[in-house]
Amino acid sequence: MIELAGVEKHFAGQVVVHPLSLTIKEGEFLTLLGPSGCGKTTILRMIAGFEQPSKGRILLDGADLTKLPPNQRDLNLVFQHYALFPHMTVEDNIDFGLKMKKLPAKERRERIEEAVAMTQLTPLTKRYPHQLSGGQQQRVAIARAIANKPKVLLLDEPLGALDLQLRKNLQSELKHLQRSLGITFVYVTHDQDEAMMMSDRIVIMNNGQVEQIGTPREVYAKPTTLFAATFIGENNILSEDGRLFAVRPEKLRGTHDLDGAMRTGEIVDVQYLGSIHKVIVQLDEEPMTVSIVLDSEDTQEWVVGGRIGVLWDTRDEVNIGS
Ligand code: ATP
Repeated sequence: MIELAGVEKHFAGQVVVHPLSLTIKEGEFLTLLGPSGCGKTTILRMIAGFEQPSKGRILLDGADLTKLPPNQRDLNLVFQHYALFPHMTVEDNIDFGLKMKKLPAKERRERIEEAVAMTQLTPLTKRYPHQLSGGQQQRVAIARAIANKPKVLLLDEPLGALDLQLRKNLQSELKHLQRSLGITFVYVTHDQDEAMMMSDRIVIMNNGQVEQIGTPREVYAKPTTLFAATFIGENNILSEDGRLFAVRPEKLRGTHDLDGAMRTGEIVDVQYLGSIHKVIVQLDEEPMTVSIVLDSEDTQEWVVGGRIGVLWDTRDEVNIGS
């Protein structure tokens, strides 16, 4: 549905987005994931039309958008810090775009009601932005975009400013919303968990380049690069005879039997996380620390500074790059 064909972006002679070709399917939830400065926002702004690609083309349903101004593209953008109209109430803010589209009053009312219900804003529709918390304002921005029912919604860290609980709620709400409305979402985040939880596919970016594109399951189970393996999940990289591989934390086991272990190390941290606990180990044999996730049934005593043996089933080794 959206096609990026050899899209590149240079700023002042510096390559910020290396040639990128990507097809985003209709109704897909696609996430651009990567550390700060890797070019995610620039890609989103090119799709929206706020930046021109230095090279390449962007197509929506086969039509070339590359030269179209933002307001002639059937898509909406939600930023992390979205400026609402300060002199308008929540419902007037949402209504603004609907009025511009000259929709009949009844349909406008229905769309506003639906959008505020979905974003849990129903009791706040008569308030002005300065009477809302940052998180509530952000939900208004999302409600406003949803009410427009665009073909594509572009979201740039839309939950970045929210507290954890609200963020978790809105993650599921947004995912549910996207499924039920069938809108294509292109979502930018640097939060791996958020990307894993919400996306149909994830594009892992690093330094303006794509490291890997895949479903959450694929990028977790079969990372194709070292960066992808360390950026998704935990940094559990091991090596043997020059071969690098990862073993996910839930696949490692801890033992007091150091002689029978595959690696040994010192415990540098023990984190109790409720249903599980996590032991961080500085290995003797390698520079890396590894995390081991143990369920609460594991009654062995692990203390910081203590010795631990590490074991795993070699079938759980994730070869990087294969
Ligand atoms: P973040 O998560 O911090 O928003 P990002 O992955 O979205 O990061 P971009 O905002 O796309 O990254 O920026 C990518 C690179 O391009 C950065 O090094 C940034 O400094 C540079 N850049 C972005 N916009 C411009 C501009 N208008 N002029 C010059 N350089 C720019």
